[in-house]
Amino acid sequence: MGVSAAMFAARQGDPLSEPVVLLERDALGSGSSGRSEAILCHHNLDRSAAFMAKDSIRFYQSFLKKTGQPVGLQASGVLLLAGPRQAERLRSTIEQLQSIGVDAHCLTAAQARERVPGLELDDDYQAVWEPKAGTVGARQTIESMGALARYYGAATRIGVSAEELVIKNGHMVGVETSAGFYESARVVLAAGPHTKVLLAQAGIDLGLVDEWVQYTYCTMPHPESQEPQESPEPVAEHDEADYDPLATNFEPRFIPAEPVRGPLPHPVVIDLEAGWFARCEREESRTRVGQWRGSPDELKASGGRATGVDGNVTDSFRSWAHGLLRERFPLYRDQAEAGSSSNRVVRTADGRPLIGAVSAVGGLFVATGFAGHEFQLAPSVGEGLAQLMAGKPVSAFHPELFSPDRLQTV
Ligand SMILES: Cc1cc2nc3c(=O)[nH]c(=O)nc-3n(C[C@H](O)[C@H](O)[C@H](O)COP(=O)(O)OP(=O)(O)OC[C@H]3O[C@@H](n4cnc5c(N)ncnc54)[C@H](O)[C@@H]3O)c2cc1C
Repeated sequence: MGVSAAMFAARQGDPLSEPVVLLERDALGSGSSGRSEAILCHHNLDRSAAFMAKDSIRFYQSFLKKTGQPVGLQASGVLLLAGPRQAERLRSTIEQLQSIGVDAHCLTAAQARERVPGLELDDDYQAVWEPKAGTVGARQTIESMGALARYYGAATRIGVSAEELVIKNGHMVGVETSAGFYESARVVLAAGPHTKVLLAQAGIDLGLVDEWVQYTYCTMPHPESQEPQESPEPVAEHDEADYDPLATNFEPRFIPAEPVRGPLPHPVVIDLEAGWFARCEREESRTRVGQWRGSPDELKASGGRATGVDGNVTDSFRSWAHGLLRERFPLYRDQAEAGSSSNRVVRTADGRPLIGAVSAVGGLFVATGFAGHEFQLAPSVGEGLAQLMAGKPVSAFHPELFSPDRLQTV
């Protein structure tokens, strides 16, 4: 979120009179974003967030072509499954997606099995198929956004830790860091779980709670062992022409072609009934499985299995996640487990991120509370923060919906 904000802010301002500096304590992508499965899909209960996802996905789809920087886009398609308990949810999801112009259609269980060879699905299931959805490479995307931020004139200070917000008379004056004082009347705080610590030092409580998210891996079967998948349709040309938040001055002859990616054993599969997902990671030859953490309903569906109290991955989570993978895709029955991991994220009291100005301190902005599947929203978040900081009308998201003031207690 910080890299995206730096990229958009640098692009809109003058690097000499309004320099943008990105402070990163460790390395770009060392937080939860770098470990995200980075699934891009429009499935979201909230209409406003679905619009953000739509903009962001178009942004990722045209990123390489417009900027010369790769994001590791894999348009594998996303299949959303719903059993009888989630049928109503599925109906409203498809209605919403179609009402905002997303290419998505309903499939019966038989059609889903035909679409995704190897998938086991009971006849009382239904599905939503998003052919143009897919994934990006999380770290590659962050690196590319960082490179573009520098191209627009931002300075990235890697290995520099923000230690204290310096506030005078209710206004930001700068940040005390491990490399000295940085003077600035406008500061975006997007430090993952550390955001809460820096806010607390300044006497601000936004009710943020840390949470451990677990996920586990299975070795990926060879796609050749499957029937060939229908290749996703190419992105329509007019999509790219319409949406242009980051047009650059790169000369076309330097723009590389989108790398050709081979087939995957299956698209991203999200099972709303079980609160579970599976996503193939080609570069690592493994499939990631975990809890689908989209909404309170989805959290309930997985029985809170993926939320640990510390960084340890529990056996019950592993057997739940692998069990579902082998049930849905019998071709995984002979595949070995390939490790597990966990990651700390930040959740807000109402489950919605906080993006925007903290009115108690002039010039302070936050982007935090991303505990679900918000990696994909980073372009909209960054663009909106840049608009807010410039005092422009915010078109990238609904500012009231994400306003930090709704949860400030002190
Ligand atoms: C396992 C997992 C899977 C996920 N999968 C998806 C997904 O598929 N799709 C999706 O959309 N979202 C996904 N998410 C959520 C997504 O990763 C997060 O919502 C979002 O990327 C968080 O971004 P962030 O910038 O707020 O935090 P972070 O990525 O944590 O970034 C914070 C950065 O701040 C730096 N920092 C911390 N303290 C300081 C300091 N004092 N000074 C300077 N720098 C500091 C950190 O080093 C870090 O680089 C997933 C999350 C997890 C944990």
